[in-house]
Amino acid sequence: MKTQTSKAKEELKGSIKGRVLVPDDPGYEEARQVWNAMIDRRPAVIVQCVQADDVPPVIRFARKNGLQLSIRGAGHNIAGNALCDNGLTIDFSRMKNVRVDAGKKRAYVEPGATLADLDEATQAHSLATPVGINSTTGIAGLTLGGGFGWLTRKYGMTVDNLVSVDMITAEGKKLRASESENADLFWAIRGGGGNFGVVTQFEFQLFPLGPEIVAGLIVFPFNQAKQILTKYRQFVNSAPEELNVWVVLRKAPPLPFLPESVHGKEVVILPIFYSGAVAEAEKLIAPLRAFGTALGEHIGAQPYVQWQKAFDPLLTPGARNYWKSHNFTELADGALDAIIESAAKLPSPQCEIFMGLIAGAPNRIAADAMAYGHRDAKFVLNVHGRWDEAKDDQKGIGWAREFFKASAPYASAGAYVNFMTEEEGDRVAAAYGSNYDRLVEIKKRYDPANVFHLNQNIKP
Ligand SMILES: Cc1cc2nc3c(=O)[nH]c(=O)nc-3n(C[C@H](O)[C@H](O)[C@H](O)COP(=O)(O)OP(=O)(O)OC[C@H]3O[C@@H](n4cnc5c(N)ncnc54)[C@H](O)[C@@H]3O)c2cc1C
Repeated sequence: MKTQTSKAKEELKGSIKGRVLVPDDPGYEEARQVWNAMIDRRPAVIVQCVQADDVPPVIRFARKNGLQLSIRGAGHNIAGNALCDNGLTIDFSRMKNVRVDAGKKRAYVEPGATLADLDEATQAHSLATPVGINSTTGIAGLTLGGGFGWLTRKYGMTVDNLVSVDMITAEGKKLRASESENADLFWAIRGGGGNFGVVTQFEFQLFPLGPEIVAGLIVFPFNQAKQILTKYRQFVNSAPEELNVWVVLRKAPPLPFLPESVHGKEVVILPIFYSGAVAEAEKLIAPLRAFGTALGEHIGAQPYVQWQKAFDPLLTPGARNYWKSHNFTELADGALDAIIESAAKLPSPQCEIFMGLIAGAPNRIAADAMAYGHRDAKFVLNVHGRWDEAKDDQKGIGWAREFFKASAPYASAGAYVNFMTEEEGDRVAAAYGSNYDRLVEIKKRYDPANVFHLNQNIKP
């Protein structure tokens, strides 16, 4: 292995501008860290690309040497497929540039950019596009799997706002995919993940936003959970799409606006986001307070980029994480009961069950318009198991699986691939439902050898 890796280093160094790291190199250990500390993989070579032209020689090198290939955006994916054992990782952590054309309302984004990179660049022009809710997440993985966040009700999934991508295929060929160029490939990558090639640039359409929005949290006692969830279900049916309200059940973090006696106790949290006129927010939010007897709240006008970082302190890298997820078209009583029962048994102070509301613009797109096809989904539920010590793995994983099973009868078909763990491979075809066969056909055309298999794999 040692001879192979030093040979790799010399050969690659000569053909690219980026940095080549092999075990024992300074920076190698840091480069093999990803968000989920349960992932501990050691690539034989990590190539930190600095330009799109670095990618074709790297792909060719990996194929010639029989090295499996993984692609790292910002390394957030729970399954850890950004890394591979003994293979080659294409690492985009040094390609994070975002260029905004404010006149055209377009952003051109390199594949290592995080949500923070994109939000900061677009908000400099009071523009935005829907992305996720944790600013350190990668644009690349998030977009290729679908992508949703606070703006999704109004403007759709992240993929719904993707205009084009620049890609490198398994053959090392550069091409552009959009509605008018390589349209089949563009259909596939909008939800099909990293199965079809390496994206070196994303182009997004942008919308006017902020820079101030109204957002914050209302926190209720856990013993009112059933009434809060029942009223929530009713409320979101008629809430305007500028208003987004999620639900989080967890143990209360030590938030300064909560009485100390509540810290560490189970609570129901309603995170609220309103992107309409600031003056309109109060009357829309007021009914939420009447859901129960709030323990505290913290809501106000603030920069969008600040709210996009609000949950970062709860989602830092380095903890052990295990997720299970379902989509729902409606929240049946049984689903609410399962959520509450499970939230009463949280195995660690960092575990949570959250429900993201995506009802609105995504539902107005046809299920076969692109690979991401969950157009009936109104809620995405994630059971987020999170703890610090390996000794707690079985307890945390067991809790997540038990809840997943209990809530399954009320879920809609399909699954959000970005929330799937490594061991859910058999769920991939089901996740794509009726779009799966077309994905297989396109995979056969663009990657018949399954070079890009470290992902939620669509087998050619
Ligand atoms: C704390 C946290 C919060 C999250 N919040 C949200 C949320 O609000 N909304 C939401 O929709 N999702 C959310 N996610 C899920 C997130 O969308 C996925 O984890 C996503 O895969 C992360 O992208 P990444 O680039 O950081 O991941 P990586 O692990 O770097 O990449 C994931 C996979 O994407 C593929 N890939 C990456 N880059 C490329 C590329 N350039 N070309 C081709 N394929 C590539 C590879 O197959 C890779 O294995 C969250 C995840 C975390 C950990």
